[in-house]
Amino acid sequence: MSDGKQERIYCPVCLARFKKEEGWSEGAVVICPICGQKLRLVWSPEGWQGERVDRGTEKEIRERAESFARLRGYSFNEMKEELIEGLVGKHRLFGEFYCPCRMEHTPEYQCPCKPTRGGDVERKGRCYCGFFWKKQV
Ligand SMILES: [Zn+2]
Repeated sequence: MSDGKQERIYCPVCLARFKKEEGWSEGAVVICPICGQKLRLVWSPEGWQGERVDRGTEKEIRERAESFARLRGYSFNEMKEELIEGLVGKHRLFGEFYCPCRMEHTPEYQCPCKPTRGGDVERKGRCYCGFFWKKQV
């Protein structure tokens, strides 16, 4: 029986599943290819889950943003540190790293937000906040 549980890993940040690669086993630390979150693999009755490494810390959001930018080939600008501070502030107030430029505090607006994960940077040259930028060629 193949229901995909063995092959896919659930990411608690982007709430999606991504492909488990050959050789990844319980306890392995991997990067979610959709949002850049660093995850430790755990097997559960619902299938493979990723546990957030350094959950809730500035290190977590910084690494997530940097991995996401690297995966997509995006860059940051001089606003980077200010926006990281904004993200840390959102976590302090609302319990998650929600977009610092929006009023919505729902899972789809956890940074990188759903529109950004969906290709807003390719379409508009930058994300809503101006945190992630398309590289100039
Ligand atoms: Zn993810």
